[in-house]
Amino acid sequence: MTSAATPAPRFPAASVLGYPRIGPRRELKKALEAFWAGRTSADEVEATAAALRRRTRTRLVELGLRADDASVPSAFSFYDQVLDAAVTVGAVPERFADLVGPDGSLDLAGYSTVARGRGDDLPLEMTKWFDTNYHYLVPEIGPGTLFRLASDRPVRELAEALADGVLTRPVLVGPVTFLALSKPAEGSPEGFAPLDRLADLLPVYAELLRALAAAGATWVQLEEPALVSDSVDASPEALLAATATAYRVLADELARPERPALLVAAPYGDLGAALPVLAATSVEAVGLDLVRGRVPGAPVPGLEGTTLVAGVVDGHNVWRADLDAKLTLLERLERLGAGGVAVGTSTSLFHVPHDVADEPQLDPTLASWLAFADQKVDEVVTLAEGLVEGREAVHDRLRAASEALAGRAAAPGVVRPEVRARVAALTDADAVRTPYAEREPAQTARFALPPLPTTTIGSFPQTPEIRRARAAFGKGELTAEQYEDEMRAEIRRVVRLQERLGLDVLVHGEPERNDMVQYFAEHLDGFAVTQNGWVQSYGSRCTRPSLLWGDVSRPAPITVAWSSYTQSLTPKPVKGMLTGPVTILAWSFVRDDQPLGATADQVALALRDEIADLEAAGIGIIQVDEPALRELLPLRRADQPDYLAWSVRSFRLATAGVRDETQVHTHLCYSEFGEVIDAIDGLDADVTSIEAARSKMEILGDVAASGFERQIGPGVYDIHSPRVPGTAEVTELLTEAVRSIDPARVWVNPDCGLKTRRYEEVEPALAHLVAATRAVRESRAVAATV
Ligand code: GLN
Ligand code: ZN
Repeated sequence: MTSAATPAPRFPAASVLGYPRIGPRRELKKALEAFWAGRTSADEVEATAAALRRRTRTRLVELGLRADDASVPSAFSFYDQVLDAAVTVGAVPERFADLVGPDGSLDLAGYSTVARGRGDDLPLEMTKWFDTNYHYLVPEIGPGTLFRLASDRPVRELAEALADGVLTRPVLVGPVTFLALSKPAEGSPEGFAPLDRLADLLPVYAELLRALAAAGATWVQLEEPALVSDSVDASPEALLAATATAYRVLADELARPERPALLVAAPYGDLGAALPVLAATSVEAVGLDLVRGRVPGAPVPGLEGTTLVAGVVDGHNVWRADLDAKLTLLERLERLGAGGVAVGTSTSLFHVPHDVADEPQLDPTLASWLAFADQKVDEVVTLAEGLVEGREAVHDRLRAASEALAGRAAAPGVVRPEVRARVAALTDADAVRTPYAEREPAQTARFALPPLPTTTIGSFPQTPEIRRARAAFGKGELTAEQYEDEMRAEIRRVVRLQERLGLDVLVHGEPERNDMVQYFAEHLDGFAVTQNGWVQSYGSRCTRPSLLWGDVSRPAPITVAWSSYTQSLTPKPVKGMLTGPVTILAWSFVRDDQPLGATADQVALALRDEIADLEAAGIGIIQVDEPALRELLPLRRADQPDYLAWSVRSFRLATAGVRDETQVHTHLCYSEFGEVIDAIDGLDADVTSIEAARSKMEILGDVAASGFERQIGPGVYDIHSPRVPGTAEVTELLTEAVRSIDPARVWVNPDCGLKTRRYEEVEPALAHLVAATRAVRESRAVAATV
């Protein structure tokens, strides 16, 4: 339906929802970190950011997007797009009120402080963005949060692009998603939900849309991924009602040309019942994720006036698309009778690296199967051409894509019969250990740990010396032997430090690992790694996902020598440290030619062999990290049971081969414990450590309520911020923990690994952790004797 006063501009035939923001050589990361370290000024960061935005615009136009029709998204962020939305609508928590200027604005230093915290002021909580490895900051909204248009950045960035001759399409987090992802501010009354504030928020969005129209915007993209998820803190009915309200106010009641035309984009899944709701409004275009979502089976009322922006090119994985099949999908969509069909990506491209051409060391055959952001833009442009001008016009490009795909299917290593046979021979018994009640006494007797045992999650700071040694080894300036000597020296330092601090279960510190997934990828068959394939994880932090392209197996032991060496240095138990199958998958770009579960089983068997070797070498405690278990949880409830079945089974396949007296730990990096509690229980690990500090032990209620009966280490030190918690603060968290969970089952540990922190922070923080543990042990002992 359309009631707009002026005919809508056409949505560009080819577009992408977003593009990497960090820069091909992580320029933004370097600029921000220099600024935070006090080495450069805010102006220098602004200059780097402006140069990156210009590069993006120029590049996208070179690749075939048009400069004059809002094809080019303006989707930059210094840290996080959800934080940007909060700052734009003036929703900065009270504790940072002193940073806010009289007009509501924040400068870059203030913005950074809200993201990273200062002193006792905790930063905004951070959590995973839908089913990706990107993390956003959680806005805090209360009944009294004063919404106002507090930033002119979107308008300034539009003007900056126009001055450069490019009409961009500003991208904003939509109002429904913004509130659905927020949490109630501290002190909000029971039952309050941020979504209750929608009516107060919408005028600010309306004001911003008017300002953007006045500045020359023809299209604005509002991102509403909350609409594809059953996992946000709002019921499906509440989300649909909010969608109807939001777009009645922003699209129907605010008519063009007072506002730009609106693209409401719904990446990461199927819009489901929200599509008819949007179709019934005057929203000019809807972005569908057609990698995860489906083409609707029947005509949708109201769609005649709406352009469908078909996200057929996968924004979240790196394999070259089957262009022929995508064109067929586009033609099906055209038959749905919408107001038009344009070609786009399923999600923003910020989940993939910039350019395959930046990987000259990659095997050229493998490289020919890949499409990073720049190649995906090319795919979108090709498909748009094919859709408008017919298949013949792009015939050669379709054929090249088909040939690459056929070559990939037949390439050596993609299917290995011996790997397939081993997986096929597995039985359910391979995934089952002795019941916990029976193996627990064997472990207790073996390790004789004090109550509230202390440990860490595995990694210790990756110092400049470690990085330098790794780089030198990579360049051939150090021999393998010299490199190993350096790593051993580091392990000795880390062991001595842990002994000095008085920790109970020690780790080797993972100095030899550049990354907890890439390290294993480098030692397993079926993987390749990139040099420049960085993608943003949160803020300035990036990861470099490996490419899992073939059948997986373990040619030789990976961690055994490091763990045995470490155990030889100390009488205290040393934890062996592995990354679990789901996390290896989640943080790699995984082959898309077979179900994830089949790939997970192959990885699990490789880990099972590693665990058997660790056990045989005398390592009695083995931690298998699964921080990504929840990340891959499908957003739609109907899809979850199948995922949980294969993911849990793969962990158990990896770990169930051990003896009773071997203690299996796992570690998970988020605080939404409740949602996956059954799966965590299903992992059957003896000890589970979990993030809890930033949300102030919010998870404990879920744990207590769930009947979870094995041991648990709720993190008492938030390692995501440079802040050092004091002993009193840790004591308080730990006291809280032993109040709701049987102290006999509680472990004491940080939230996550320490590799991104500096020793200046880690040493005092761990000393406080140990001191707090002693205090709580004593007070409990005292309590027990009176
Ligand atoms: N063992 C890993 C570490 O300590 C776990 C990291 C993680 O959970 N992300 O770094
Ligand atoms: Zn973690």
